[in-house]
Amino acid sequence: MAQIINGKAVSLAERERITKETEELFSKYGRRPGLAVIIVGEDPASKVYVANKEKGCQEVGFYSELYRLPEDTQMPELLSLIEKLNNDDKINGILCQLPLPKHLNEEEVILAINPNKDVDAFHPVNTGKIMIGNHSFLPCTPAGVMKLIESTGTDISGKECVVIGRSNIVGKPQAMLLLQANGTVTICHSRTKNLKEVTRRADILVVAIGKADFITGDMVKEGAVVIDVGMNRRADGKLTGDVDFESCEKVASYITPVPGGVGPMTITMLLENTLTAFKNTL
Ligand code: NAP
Repeated sequence: MAQIINGKAVSLAERERITKETEELFSKYGRRPGLAVIIVGEDPASKVYVANKEKGCQEVGFYSELYRLPEDTQMPELLSLIEKLNNDDKINGILCQLPLPKHLNEEEVILAINPNKDVDAFHPVNTGKIMIGNHSFLPCTPAGVMKLIESTGTDISGKECVVIGRSNIVGKPQAMLLLQANGTVTICHSRTKNLKEVTRRADILVVAIGKADFITGDMVKEGAVVIDVGMNRRADGKLTGDVDFESCEKVASYITPVPGGVGPMTITMLLENTLTAFKNTL
């Protein structure tokens, strides 16, 4: 039976460290890290994420600003808000919650954020830096996954690492971070043939597909570390991952639950990035 990786506990320990450092910096410089969060429209999931980000800021003692813009906001308004925040010294991190309403251009929005304040690490300057291993910020979810793997004491070096999913937000940067940790990395996607053959090779399996309970125990190598990034709503409203927990926990050595695994880490890594952005200005 696998040991369960407690994302809440790992996240709490990280937040305690961030809180302590924030207080130390405040007593030395009289300033706090500042995060501005922008949400456009009424997407219910986005509203929950944004509320949790605000709460996270309060918990660790950050200064925060929340901008709720109406659904019909146009690009010039959004870009001028970003420009204002780019030039505001109180703000070290700017986050525009995605997805944006269809009429807005996400790529243009990402490009408008000053890369030094891009705490989501979505700007091409930051994704490029991750590629060459000289990063300021790591994208939040993949960085959280790395902390969770680290918490198991697993040495990634030389291990077979399989990432399922190749999105710009999770799969691709995840593969890059595992590679930088000297893993032997394979990326799978919807066109991968014989997925099961590939996943059964994995010592470390990171799943970010967006399909409920897709990975079953027969697809997992005995003793593998299984990290489930997926967040899917079942018909009864319950949250579930991409990994069928019941069958996989019988085979894996470590496994993350959903909820309570990767989810709590993502916002914590956002706070970590905001702290880094602040420290970069000192
Ligand atoms: P995405 O952009 O939809 O990407 C999904 C990936 O899965 C794609 O690369 C797709 O391949 C691949 N895929 C789809 N069906 C597949 C199949 N049958 N076999 C193999 N690969 C398949 O999703 P995402 O943004 O990366 O998110 C993935 C999941 O993570 C979602 O459930 C999301 O809610 C969750 N998530 C959680 C957090 C968190 O904080 N816990 C953060 C971000 C995302 P193609 O490229 O070929 O289409």
